[in-house]
Amino acid sequence: MNPCDDCPIDDKIYECCGRFPETGETVYLQITRDRFISACPHLKPHGTCGIYKNRPYACQTHLCYRYDAVNNIGAGYQILKNQWGNWWEEDT
Ligand code: SF4
Ligand code: SF4
Repeated sequence: MNPCDDCPIDDKIYECCGRFPETGETVYLQITRDRFISACPHLKPHGTCGIYKNRPYACQTHLCYRYDAVNNIGAGYQILKNQWGNWWEEDT
């Protein structure tokens, strides 16, 4: 499953689609009758990317906590942390 498909639009704006990464360009996007948000010019009101197949490299390689969690990336680190605890907080 692609976690971007059902990502809440407020998370998208905060994490990755708040501006066009190559130029920093933003537009006001109307997402409800009375709500406008500042967003990448290619973001559609329902939250998909209008140039998804040709989106910039920065967009293709952008990962976030939500993406990692859905794809179980970083799980090994979490297992070690659970086993060993926060060793850097000991011996104070
Ligand atoms: S990269 Fe992360 S924040 Fe951006 S749309 Fe995908 S899941 Fe949401
Ligand atoms: S080009 Fe698409 S994926 Fe990249 S920031 Fe804009 S809407 Fe998001």
